[in-house]
Amino acid sequence: MTDSRVRIVSVLPALLGTYGDGGNVVVLERRLAWRGIPVQVVRTTVQDPCPAEGDLYVLGGGEDEAQLLALDVLRTSALRAVLDRGTPLLAVCAGLQLLGSSLAAGSESFVEGLGMVDLTTARLSRRAVGEVVTRPEESTGLNRLTGFVNHGGSTVLGSEARPFGQVLEGPGNAGESDPVEGVLQGSVIGTYLHGPVLARNPALADLLLTRAVGSPLPHLEPGLPEQLHAERLARRG
Ligand code: GLN
Repeated sequence: MTDSRVRIVSVLPALLGTYGDGGNVVVLERRLAWRGIPVQVVRTTVQDPCPAEGDLYVLGGGEDEAQLLALDVLRTSALRAVLDRGTPLLAVCAGLQLLGSSLAAGSESFVEGLGMVDLTTARLSRRAVGEVVTRPEESTGLNRLTGFVNHGGSTVLGSEARPFGQVLEGPGNAGESDPVEGVLQGSVIGTYLHGPVLARNPALADLLLTRAVGSPLPHLEPGLPEQLHAERLARRG
């Protein structure tokens, strides 16, 4: 960082931004600005997909073709160095899948993933679609999360990765009967939740920002995002 601004890198949002996932970056930006913390958002393109000097990286979901294009572009990028440095990264759906060691590229073929997170993704026989409620791993300090999922991938975690949360309602990483949602490994938080997930779950946005800033954030009075989060959980029992 060459100045005091928190630099948020939105990785390839034109390819990885389905279901409004670009909104995750807007939420992060606003929650810093509301606290008076200077922020800069970089939205990358295939010409320079992953600058090395960010404080927080965000990958969104994507359709199958766009996701494979993003995968190829990211193979030779600085993303590995960014993660080796322990920089926080949120990866949603397609973003989560492409960090793994392999992923489905059609009904029966697979491609090699980036190999940065210990997971593999095969194909579901029926797409996982619907509302999800999870209980995140205790170490995150988060309460319940909600989101919307729509994916054809079926993800299984390897021994170096941990689930981000346990499913309380809806499909998990590998579809309807999987009790596991998302992934934690190193500085990566991966999830299948759209919504955008940070608009629906402001506490997750603040967890990422705390890690990016490296110290506790100034207090922010709970507002509409927190109210909507509570109401959504109340409606789902
Ligand atoms: N294309 C991937 C799948 O269907 C990811 C979808 C998404 O990002 N919502 O599994």
